[in-house]
Amino acid sequence: IEPRLLGPAQIRDLAQRLGVRPTKTLGQNFVHDANTVRRIVADAGIGPDDVVLEVGPGLGSLTLALLTEARRVVTVEIDPVLADQLPRTIAEYAPDHAERVDVVTADAMTVTVADLPAAPTALVANLPYNVAVPVLLHLLAELPTLRTALVMVQMEVAERLAAGPGGRTYGIPSVKARYFGTVSRAGSVGRSVFWPVPKVESGLVRIERHPRVDRPSAERTTVFAVIDAAFGQRRKTLRAALAGWAGGPVEAERRLRAAGIDPTARGETLDIDDYLRLAAVEGSGPG
Ligand code: SAM
Repeated sequence: IEPRLLGPAQIRDLAQRLGVRPTKTLGQNFVHDANTVRRIVADAGIGPDDVVLEVGPGLGSLTLALLTEARRVVTVEIDPVLADQLPRTIAEYAPDHAERVDVVTADAMTVTVADLPAAPTALVANLPYNVAVPVLLHLLAELPTLRTALVMVQMEVAERLAAGPGGRTYGIPSVKARYFGTVSRAGSVGRSVFWPVPKVESGLVRIERHPRVDRPSAERTTVFAVIDAAFGQRRKTLRAALAGWAGGPVEAERRLRAAGIDPTARGETLDIDDYLRLAAVEGSGPG
């Protein structure tokens, strides 16, 4: 029997039974619309071999929909009340699929592969909004088996994550996301499908990982340090903005020129490949 999906009545009932009062601190806005979760699962492009990681399963709306496609769904939920309830919800709404769901009670900001029962191949999540970017970047760095991610975040964050060089929305999240893969927008989601109704629209972002991640993690440390420095003072020229990182403007200029980058350019005009070249210039590594 296919899993049954949660609508407004079921969400209300579950929340009432649990005495759940959604908290803003944990970004708790639960989807109560079956079409929305169906669409997210379809867009995620997951197949029967995929082990999906879902951060913040909440009351289980997306988890149930994921079970229709994925081999296994590994969920990570920080709220122990919701984590405790999830197996019961799955038993009730998807009794034939319960053994394919794992519930890990943990903070996704610090979770490691050792905390998970299986190595996930895809991340699909309606992320807690206040920590969406750090959680996403942490998981991409920590879990190299993730080949794809489809995440729902607030619209402004979706725009920032998927922005390319040159614009005002292009910033640290955009470049760092591009370190891991190809980033694109995958549509928007209205406010009315959530309980409680959030103040802003949501957007879906897709990341297809490129092979670059097999590079050593020391490289990432260096590249991310350059990116942080370049955008830390985004109105300054790179020569000035990177002076602290390089140990002076003269050395910053030397490294920029060695990487073929105009020292008077600004950080927001560079793409991830420029940052990679800059970080690879001799003398740029950590320590
Ligand atoms: N997936 C559910 C849905 O779509 O209805 C709930 C999504 S809700 C936007 C975010 C969920 O993430 C909540 O269940 C919240 O408790 C959980 N959460 C918040 N911070 C977390 C963290 N650091 N690690 C893991 N889960 C977290």
